Amino acid sequence: MFYFTDAPTLLRDLVTLNAHPVAWSTIAIMTATTLVFGGFMREQVCIYMCPWPRIQAAMMDESTLTVAYRDWRGEERGKIHKGELTRSDGGTKGDCIDCMACVNVCPMGIDIRDGQQLECITCALCIDACDEVMARIGKPRGLIDYMALSDETVERAGGRARPIISHILRPRTLVYFALWSGFGVGLLVLLLMRSPFDLNVTPVRNPQFVTMSDGSIRNAYEIRLRNKDGSDQPFAITATDGAGQPIPGAELVLEGHSDNTLTVPADATQMQRIYLTAPAGSALAQQGRTDIDLWVEGQGQGIRTSVGTVFHGKGM
Ligand code: SF4
Ligand code: SF4
Repeated sequence: MFYFTDAPTLLRDLVTLNAHPVAWSTIAIMTATTLVFGGFMREQVCIYMCPWPRIQAAMMDESTLTVAYRDWRGEERGKIHKGELTRSDGGTKGDCIDCMACVNVCPMGIDIRDGQQLECITCALCIDACDEVMARIGKPRGLIDYMALSDETVERAGGRARPIISHILRPRTLVYFALWSGFGVGLLVLLLMRSPFDLNVTPVRNPQFVTMSDGSIRNAYEIRLRNKDGSDQPFAITATDGAGQPIPGAELVLEGHSDNTLTVPADATQMQRIYLTAPAGSALAQQGRTDIDLWVEGQGQGIRTSVGTVFHGKGM
């Protein structure tokens, strides 16, 4: 929540119990969803709500390293009696002593010995748990390990698996790396290029224009100016015609201000009503509808931006 608003102000408002109802209701909703998701639903969130396993599954192929159980080494599982040889000692019984350590540590509650499953988040806790068990009973580590499907077939036939680096560096992974890096660089460029402020303009339609006592025509606009900078910023507001040229005789006034400068606090959005008045008899005042631009210039930043809008005249 502190990320989306002015954090020191919100913290002070919360401590003094003066926070806006929206802040309290957001905290209540986030607390409730965290309790439900983290306290009750737990791994069901990962299995049924998270899109990541689907994305991961779509990106995998037979050379992808994943967590797997060497069933040709571990089966037939069961308790080992003293002096009994297992497969790693040249015997026929499997190395898995069916201690359930790998299942007990699994945050997803699955048994990796049943084969690869969509629920697996490849956290590798089962690898560590099984390696500890293997160390205790004097068997080689790796009954559960990172493995690729292509290596599984080779190992099952008695061959040696390919080196891990050859699974990591291959055309498919390099293309993925290039694509994700491209997205990352693109986002970084957008972040660095983002405008330090935003401007929205809404013409006041009721009434569309007001005829002043001297015959001039006045239009009103509601502008919303968002300052994305971390410090208060003064913004100069001006108007031009659709070609970017000053409008002869037109006067722009900010309601409640003595000049055309609006100072917006850091990381805040400010609403402001402005009035644009065209002199009596001018083209702007006579025409029914004229395209104009409202400009905002960050005075400390030297950046300008404009929003197109319309000026309503008498239409004669
Ligand atoms: S890698 Fe993690 S999620 Fe997957 S089976 Fe092992 S402990 Fe469970
Ligand atoms: S931790 Fe290893 S030995 Fe124990 S049940 Fe799992 S695979 Fe078998």
